[in-house]
Amino acid sequence: MKQQGGRLTDAFGRNITYLRLSITDRCNLRCFYCMPQADFNWMPPEDILRFEEIVQITRVLSGLGVKKVRFTGGEPLVRRDVVNLVRDVSILPGVEETCLTTNGVLLKQMAPRLFEAGLRHLNISLDTLHPERFAAITGRDNFQQVWEGIEKGIALGFFPVKINFVMMRGKNDDEIVDFARLTRRYPIDVRFIEFMPIGKGSKWGRNHFLSSDEAMGRIKEGLGPLVPVDIDPGGGPAAMYAIEGGIGRIGFISPLSHRFCSKCNRLRITADGRVRLCLFSDAEMELRDMLRKGVTDKQLAMFFSDIILRKPARYLSSKKDVPTCDRQMSSIGG
Ligand code: SAM
Ligand code: SF4
Ligand code: SF4
Repeated sequence: MKQQGGRLTDAFGRNITYLRLSITDRCNLRCFYCMPQADFNWMPPEDILRFEEIVQITRVLSGLGVKKVRFTGGEPLVRRDVVNLVRDVSILPGVEETCLTTNGVLLKQMAPRLFEAGLRHLNISLDTLHPERFAAITGRDNFQQVWEGIEKGIALGFFPVKINFVMMRGKNDDEIVDFARLTRRYPIDVRFIEFMPIGKGSKWGRNHFLSSDEAMGRIKEGLGPLVPVDIDPGGGPAAMYAIEGGIGRIGFISPLSHRFCSKCNRLRITADGRVRLCLFSDAEMELRDMLRKGVTDKQLAMFFSDIILRKPARYLSSKKDVPTCDRQMSSIGG
């Protein structure tokens, strides 16, 4: 067992300090790159982890050194009473940061209660500034709500507010410079994410892929030099920069062109209670049945300490071709 002084350490010496919880597979958008557009079924409600189960998992993991917890989905804000879950997790001893990744559609109305519940870190996904294009990418006409959600988050004092932009050649790559320019006006982090081939029937194709290096080149050409700034102290995978006169920052997340496995500090739990040790690996460990059979905190701590040893060293770089997995992104949570 590798539980040293309340630490969860894998076989390669990486300390696991970051938990990503997918709390629902449901979503109010249908982003073409994330989930099937038709012929899919949501998970049955009884399969989804209950709040008390999520709190038990988080309590045990925070006792093992997990400091940062992210709620994701599907769309986490469509889960009923999510504010109560955020509050219950935020007050757990050892949890230093609670974060949310959201599509922003319901953010404007929910932001005050989320802030009051202890949430401070917001990641909002937005791939275009054009309402018609937004509808084409997400299948819904909600651009305005998302934009107002971002403004509300900034106004309330959430920090950092990060915008996640998935780069897709031929779909939105003509907006890369426009998004980078937003950091002149807003105190936000704009993060450019390489399009990943995730999920059976993924719409990913090499023709739609655009690398971080190419995006950096375009931003430098349009807005001048990119100055490196401190990387995320929480061990985030983004390489961070600023443009001259910028009050925000620009990040690049490059799972395909650059490899950050050696610094990987994360553990994922799916909405139906399975542990994923690596985003791209479909080797999952069942947790829900154990919880429903009344596993104790101590037994759960032993379980995590044991399975963490199976976390792969460098999943991406051990593969010759582009890595992928069967599960949809919408049920892993990014
Ligand atoms: N619904 C929330 C949202 O959209 O922010 C949270 C879940 S979503 C699965 C988490 C993140 O994964 C989003 O930022 C989304 O853009 C990103 N994502 C989904 N599919 C992707 C793909 N194929 N490649 C890269 N990023 C992807
Ligand atoms: Fe929903 Fe987020 Fe996936 Fe878009 S990226 S379909 S908002 S889960
Ligand atoms: Fe971590 Fe797997 Fe991503 Fe590498 S590919 S950084 S091991 S989740």
